[in-house]
Amino acid sequence: MPAAPQVSSTLETLSRAEMARAVRRRSTFYDYTFYYAVKSTGIFCLPSCSSRNPLNENLAFFSTAEAASREGYRPCKRCSPTSKRDSYPSWIDRLLAGIMGDGQRRWTDEELRASGFEPVNVRRWFDANCGMTFQTFQRRYRLAVATQILCKGGTMSEAIATTAYRSESAFRDAVAKIYGVTPTAMKSAQPIVATEVDSPVGRLMIAANNTHVCGLSFLDRRPLAVGMVELSGVVRSPVSQGNNAVVEATAAQLDGFFAGKRQAFDVPLQLSGTAFQRRVWETLLTIPYGETVSYGDLAEMIDKPNAYRAVGNANGANRIAIIIPCHRVIAAGGKLGGYGGSLWRKQALLDLEQKHT
Ligand SMILES: [Zn+2]
Repeated sequence: MPAAPQVSSTLETLSRAEMARAVRRRSTFYDYTFYYAVKSTGIFCLPSCSSRNPLNENLAFFSTAEAASREGYRPCKRCSPTSKRDSYPSWIDRLLAGIMGDGQRRWTDEELRASGFEPVNVRRWFDANCGMTFQTFQRRYRLAVATQILCKGGTMSEAIATTAYRSESAFRDAVAKIYGVTPTAMKSAQPIVATEVDSPVGRLMIAANNTHVCGLSFLDRRPLAVGMVELSGVVRSPVSQGNNAVVEATAAQLDGFFAGKRQAFDVPLQLSGTAFQRRVWETLLTIPYGETVSYGDLAEMIDKPNAYRAVGNANGANRIAIIIPCHRVIAAGGKLGGYGGSLWRKQALLDLEQKHT
């Protein structure tokens, strides 16, 4: 195992050019990792702020909102850089309730407006935060609810009634496409339940069947329902809101981890992915607490020294964050590299481990 390089603070690991590029692209990936201030306006923002792009020479960068405030900059009203890191707009919950309240309703722009939603904001929010369009989300969300009805022993017509499908065959096709099974086979599927818990790195979703953890992810600026829809597409099985002994054991072990008292997890994991991905994830589990390796090191650990790019992709496809420690893989030279859960979380996890090693 190579020696663990020290990971330095954000402003040391990101170059000015990299930060300026993130601002130009309005990248959400860097949010809370750094803040930018505009000298001409006296305002500071998150990199993803939708306000007009400032001139390069007017940009100043800070690693914390406090540091920007100390220099006399005021928080932007549009992106609220001092707001809770993973809060989401309050209209989302109302919209989700509306979608579920009437499965047949088609949310056209007029329908959205009539219910007090701004269609442009709705579409933008889903594109930016869910990796899918609002229309796709609606279909998946309703299908998830419909398949849960089947899993709980409901009839086909009860399930179809919660969706916008007009025929049983259209419903069957949709179930086969998303979950890869027939609605009948769905009835014997092991139920996966998901719960939201709070943590020092924001809200987490823990998902498990009766025996194994199936997912652990950062909800970020998304409600639990969105995390559930996303996971159900990956594990190809419906995920419903709920709790079981595996979820509770995982939550308890995470508490210990964040308190610096636990260095390894012993809950059983269900790895759903290709053979190559599973090999990468199993190798990640061997990286000790408090240590880091580079993508190149990881590629060598699985005897595929030239496959560091594929290894990086498999690392990024990890669905059981923290427990499968993909945060311990960093770029060469001690730079943080990528992370599915925003860079500030990766930094926080590495800092936590370094503090308790
Ligand atoms: Zn802003």
